[in-house]
Amino acid sequence: MRTLPPGSTIGILGGGQLGRMLSMAAAQLGYRCHIYAPDERSVAAEVAAEFSCHQDDDIPALTKFAKACDAITFEFENVPVGPLHEIEECASLYPPIAALDIAQNRVAEKKFARDHGGTTAPFAEVYDRADLDQAIADIGAPAILKTIRMGYDGKGQSRIRPGDELCGHWDAVAHQPCVAEAFITFSHEFSVILVRGQDGEIRFWDTPHNIHEDGILAHSLIPAPQEIADQQDEARALAAKMAEAMAYVGVLTCEFFATKNGPVFNEMAPRVHNSGHWTIEGAVTSQFENHIRAICGLPLGDTGLAARQVEMHNLIGAEADDWEALLSECSNHLHLYGKGESRPGRKMGHVTKLHF
Ligand code: AMP
Repeated sequence: MRTLPPGSTIGILGGGQLGRMLSMAAAQLGYRCHIYAPDERSVAAEVAAEFSCHQDDDIPALTKFAKACDAITFEFENVPVGPLHEIEECASLYPPIAALDIAQNRVAEKKFARDHGGTTAPFAEVYDRADLDQAIADIGAPAILKTIRMGYDGKGQSRIRPGDELCGHWDAVAHQPCVAEAFITFSHEFSVILVRGQDGEIRFWDTPHNIHEDGILAHSLIPAPQEIADQQDEARALAAKMAEAMAYVGVLTCEFFATKNGPVFNEMAPRVHNSGHWTIEGAVTSQFENHIRAICGLPLGDTGLAARQVEMHNLIGAEADDWEALLSECSNHLHLYGKGESRPGRKMGHVTKLHF
């Protein structure tokens, strides 16, 4: 285990709000953050010590960045893996590249969960139009067609209803390699959020009940209802097994559906996660701080609840324009990501409310 002392530089690949909140947590512990991202305008760079603006596959620029950092992490799971292998000698990189490899591919991810004893939705791989016909014949409809790579927040997905003409769905995913997944009947959605230290210690935060609207997380509520609490141990055991198998270091999030047959694994994010934003005020130690602690080899902080009940509401699109009204409720903790113009479907901020 290598401890990085405060004052060291942490490199973050990706320049969005997760990088912003990681940088703020790192700064509190006395670290400097260096953001590496392809877009000139980065809401993470605005709060970090340094910024390198280059493409993710620019190996000379990545190497220079890596040499300027003591540890590197990422806030975006679609960072191309090939170039990362070129820089892993220059600075310690956490979470491990293997976790990115798995999380970037929905087929690999589902197989990995199944190999560790988890249940996933029945699925079939789809590489052409004939595969899609066969997949729907096998798994039935309703189903969801999801691109194997690069999908998030409901993007790269098409929902198939019984009797639908399949051509339109195949066009909707731009004929990219996909998985067709059976539509799961669930009572609730939830996520297991854990942090694993360099010494293998694992801590879990309380399990949020996550409510999605249009495929995007809208609300996380803690404590979760009984239907989720009953499935928490099984879901946690799977997430911990997966983390151990990857020799994982940092925050790992696994999303589940609570069904009458137990938890069904949906996907994992090898990073801090939107369903853990409530931990900034709602837990003794936030997911952002514990991620920084883990990658720097520091002792992990207490993940316990800081209130009886916590609610996190995402501010999507124009909802963030109501910041004055949100602030007029004095118990609201308002987080705005500094993105400027609000666009429909864009995550602009979030609000957390604690009940004591
Ligand atoms: P994903 O991008 O896989 O997280 O999907 C976004 C949201 O779509 C999920 O949080 C669910 O609300 C819904 N969803 C995804 N896959 C399924 C499924 N197989 N059955 C039912 N709902 C799903």
